[in-house]
Amino acid sequence: MFFFVPREGLEPSWSLLRTSLSRVRLPVPPSRLIYICSKLYVIYLSLSKNYKIVRYLKLLYNVIRLIVLYMGKIISIVNQKGGVGKTTTSVNLSVYLAELGKRVLLVDLDPQANATSGLGFEHRNLEFGIYQSLVDGKSIHEIIKRTVQDGLKIAPATLDLAGAGVELVSLPDREFRLSRSLEEVREDFDYIIIDGPPSLGLLTVNSLSASDEVIIPIQSEYYALEGLSQLLETISLVQGNLKPNLNIMGAVITMFDRRNKLSEAVMNELYQYFPNRIFRSIIPRTVRLAEAPSYGRSILHYDPKSKGAKAYKSLAKEIINIEKEK
Ligand code: ATP
Ligand code: MG
Repeated sequence: MFFFVPREGLEPSWSLLRTSLSRVRLPVPPSRLIYICSKLYVIYLSLSKNYKIVRYLKLLYNVIRLIVLYMGKIISIVNQKGGVGKTTTSVNLSVYLAELGKRVLLVDLDPQANATSGLGFEHRNLEFGIYQSLVDGKSIHEIIKRTVQDGLKIAPATLDLAGAGVELVSLPDREFRLSRSLEEVREDFDYIIIDGPPSLGLLTVNSLSASDEVIIPIQSEYYALEGLSQLLETISLVQGNLKPNLNIMGAVITMFDRRNKLSEAVMNELYQYFPNRIFRSIIPRTVRLAEAPSYGRSILHYDPKSKGAKAYKSLAKEIINIEKEK
């Protein structure tokens, strides 16, 4: 109460109170304080024998918890640098999440359609792709296809997607077109993984504004960190203007070569860039991972015993555990 005491010659006033309060440092953040207060209020209510209200509040709390638990997590795999392992990570992570019992949708948002062909679909033969949902407003239900992996479905890309970046510019809600499409199916999946294009254009902005989390694949080589600040700036612009609760889940190191001294140097530098945000599972550079897409297969269906397969399985487990710990 000491700050209510006026200094000599001053009457207590609102401005004095305000200045004094602004100097008070709370031991916990205000949001946490509100949470603690609400918990205390529930305890108070239960003590005051007002059981009915307590029961209703508990019910409401559990319903909200259930809704949050059952809403699929949407994860963007992004890096505007080309060839860093976005598609390899999207495909194999999705397959292993499904193999571990999760319901997964892989969205191919790259006009190169590599994730689509990497799972064995010939994109030239497809009638519809994610483009029709983004630009023509077609229901995503009509686009989604089953894959050979139980639990994994794909919203494929077709070559039309190359024009989407330009066509989206003049459409209403141009930054939220993917978000609107995915809302339709969000509850049907535990994870929705979006494979992004190698650019920071409207497709990537759509991917970020539809997502809860971002995973950044970083290739362990000399220029790996180049452009990273530009990517982080784009993410923070999306957080500031379009999706405030977008979170960077972490960076995953890809194509790591233990024999290459440079790989280790890049990794050390990266740990300084993203402290506590580098996945423990490191993806090695292996021929098997590079070969698998040419057979239209994920590494699980091409060579499940290979080092690359084990690394992606470990990454999938790590992501599931991060969610459990939340
Ligand atoms: P783009 O930006 O063009 O979409 P990308 O970031 O999606 O590229 P990928 O297509 O996944 O990158 O990988 C680029 C090339 O490197 C591909 O030929 C792929 O097979 C190969 N590759 C990816 N990861 C590995 C790895 N761990 N070991 C060996 N080769 C890999
Ligand atoms: Mg790709």
